[in-house]
Amino acid sequence: MNLINRFIKYVQYETTSDENSASYPSSLSQKEFAKVLFNDLKELGVKDLTLDEYSLIYGGIEGDSSLPTIGLIAHMDTSPELQGGNFIPKIIENYDGGIIELNKTYRLDPQEFTNLKDHLNQTLIVTDGEHLLGGDDKAGIAIIFEIIEYYLSHLEIKHAPIRFCFTPDEEIGNGASHFSIHKMKADIAYTIDGGRYNEVNYENFNAYSVSVKVLGRSVHPGSAKNLLLNAITIAMEYHDLLPKDMVPEKTEGYEGFNHLCDIKGSVEECEMSYIVRNHDLNQAKKQVQMFLTNASIIQEKYPRVNVIVTYKESYRNMYDYFKDHPLAIDKLKIAFEKAKEEIVFNPIRGGTDGAHITFMGLPCPNLGTGDYNCHGRYEYVSVDEMKKVVKILKALLEA
Ligand SMILES: [Zn+2]
Repeated sequence: MNLINRFIKYVQYETTSDENSASYPSSLSQKEFAKVLFNDLKELGVKDLTLDEYSLIYGGIEGDSSLPTIGLIAHMDTSPELQGGNFIPKIIENYDGGIIELNKTYRLDPQEFTNLKDHLNQTLIVTDGEHLLGGDDKAGIAIIFEIIEYYLSHLEIKHAPIRFCFTPDEEIGNGASHFSIHKMKADIAYTIDGGRYNEVNYENFNAYSVSVKVLGRSVHPGSAKNLLLNAITIAMEYHDLLPKDMVPEKTEGYEGFNHLCDIKGSVEECEMSYIVRNHDLNQAKKQVQMFLTNASIIQEKYPRVNVIVTYKESYRNMYDYFKDHPLAIDKLKIAFEKAKEEIVFNPIRGGTDGAHITFMGLPCPNLGTGDYNCHGRYEYVSVDEMKKVVKILKALLEA
């Protein structure tokens, strides 16, 4: 099956993950989709293949054992932000640079979505305006299938041993929770997921969650003078001590932030939840330290109030690992050169499953797929860019 047909086939399966579900995978549709992929892989002739109890698929193709084993990873679920699947995507051949009508209400306008200007004369696949496309990450799955099919039908071509894995629940942050590097059996790996085809990510945020709880004292307001300690207003005072410009809405690139994402409370008790982000681990730790210092300042001002700060590390910047283990990046640089494509490194202002997998001991940067505007109705994929990713991966596997 060719790349387009396979992609079209897979995006028609609904595989939305569900953040409110207690099961793994979080939705039955992903479990069903894993079975479809498993059967398709068997049909292609993949012999070394397992589907485990968490619906993760692992498989491999033998290769030259003198070369490092390369793993390729993509996720099966789509974002819960909009329904996917059960619709017919539209194929735009030879894109002319104009407005693309998705349906009567929604349109992709290059004035608004300026990336479209990079796809002149390319083949694009777009939504029906009512669903997300699901190219995130079925583009990654279709690309990996293309690689598998190619090497299984070209046994004469020498390549590195290949391992691959398809994971559920990436969109709700659980893509790596049941991933096993022992089952993966690779020396280096890549997530093939989202964004421009030549964009590589191996830097992400260091992340902490911080909770600040203020315990005040409630007294009837009629007789509250010199007695009442309002936890809400004292919490606001605490928040005011944080740097005003170090917030997501005022930062970009390598700039870190503290983000107040939830506040709830009463006069008696008020709790604020923050996320703390920085690419530099020492800076991230300093930001967390500031939360503790500010608690002492408030505490000193209001000795009868209790300010309790707790924090937890959420994930780490994988760059700190790659500094000492550059093989996965070095090999990619060589592959891009061989494929005559320009490599673009872009730091992620978030985390990835690859970051978790990297700290499990399997270096795992991310490579784009040619999928744009993910998680919504304006999502589209460039088939030309998907093909370029296939070319780059072949160069990587044959280096
Ligand atoms: Zn994705």
